[in-house]
Amino acid sequence: MAVAKPSNRNAAFEDLSNVEFETSEDVEVIEQFKNMHLKEELLRGVFAYGFEKPSAIQQRAIKPIIKGRDVIAQAQSGTGKTATFSIAILQSLDLQTRETQVLCLSPTRELAVQIQKVILALGDFMNVQCHACIGGTNLGEDIRKLDYGQHVVSGTPGRVYDMIRRRALRTRSVKMLVLDEADEMLNKGFKEQIYDVYRFLPPSTQVVLISATLPHEILEITSKFMTDPIRILVKRDELTLEGIKQFFVAVEREEWKFDTLCDLYDTLTITQAVIFCNTKRKVDWLTEKMRENNFTVSSMHGDMPQKERDNIMKEFRSGQSRVLITTDVWARGIDVQQVSLVINYDLPNNRELYIHRIGRSGRFGRKGVAINFVKSDDIRILRDIEQYYSTQIDEMPMNVADLI
Ligand code: ADP
Repeated sequence: MAVAKPSNRNAAFEDLSNVEFETSEDVEVIEQFKNMHLKEELLRGVFAYGFEKPSAIQQRAIKPIIKGRDVIAQAQSGTGKTATFSIAILQSLDLQTRETQVLCLSPTRELAVQIQKVILALGDFMNVQCHACIGGTNLGEDIRKLDYGQHVVSGTPGRVYDMIRRRALRTRSVKMLVLDEADEMLNKGFKEQIYDVYRFLPPSTQVVLISATLPHEILEITSKFMTDPIRILVKRDELTLEGIKQFFVAVEREEWKFDTLCDLYDTLTITQAVIFCNTKRKVDWLTEKMRENNFTVSSMHGDMPQKERDNIMKEFRSGQSRVLITTDVWARGIDVQQVSLVINYDLPNNRELYIHRIGRSGRFGRKGVAINFVKSDDIRILRDIEQYYSTQIDEMPMNVADLI
């Protein structure tokens, strides 16, 4: 699976280097990669990957992570958080040994694999071993790869914990734990699993938390496992990106959503689009119904076999498929630069998911459009989102296609 690497990465995008943060006082802003004192091979990898100038979060967070500080880093979706910790991880590695030194945990398998690819790409000139340790794959193969020695392991908590218990993944040299999508990782569903893994790590392990959303209740529990962390935070009203225009379509009744979607199909295929439903069943149902009506769509959710999920990701990343119907398994972190339209067929179940879902479009300063289908009794929820993030969600205009 290739991570998209267009040559015009830096062309004509909104400048992402001037975003405001609520940072700890002592955070330095480093405006150029070359002033970050990176290893030569790493700097070469960064430039070869097509990056010219660090984004705001990269200017602030890379250095403190390299220095070994515990760091809580928040930045808007698509502004380069993955590369932030990937560059810092690569700089921190001792490549003289092949012991596992960094563990990076993510909520979905696709995200763990994407991170592995970014680390390998940025570390292209470093001879780095980075393994994606995820569920749904062959156990023996995992053990073999880990036995060979992996500097970095990017994985999902269940499989990583399994590998630690089997002593296939040795943790004695781990010096950094990165939790991507940290608020999700510290939420009910994952928290116990994270603590299970954490207990196996050396007590001095540096902890790095990353997310676009970090609600108060999550920040409050960080003192349990972090020491005097550097905090780089974004104010709530700065979290929605200017480049992503948000709209709603009032559908009154559930049954009307389908026709609305069909009417929008041509707009969906202008570039690439992701359609979110709240349940796997609904994803299956909608996919079926779209196909019955002769629309070409792909779909993905967590009950599909991993092989199938991999194929669907591959097709979507390559642009072979253009419309993806999915659940929140796709809400966080996945980076497909060509996605310019997100549809909330159902409104998400919480405020954080809204930010993550619409952030699948408008990657790194590109334009994006998000369209929310709202039934009469959903309007209240939409207004709450609007108010919470001090943003504007207008009725969808006729010429929405022109905005993509
Ligand atoms: P986030 O994790 O904040 O959602 P990503 O790290 O996935 O964002 O980055 C979004 C996109 O921007 C990716 O395609 C990535 O390759 C690109 N990108 C990141 N940093 C830079 C940079 N400094 N210059 C150009 N493109 C970048």
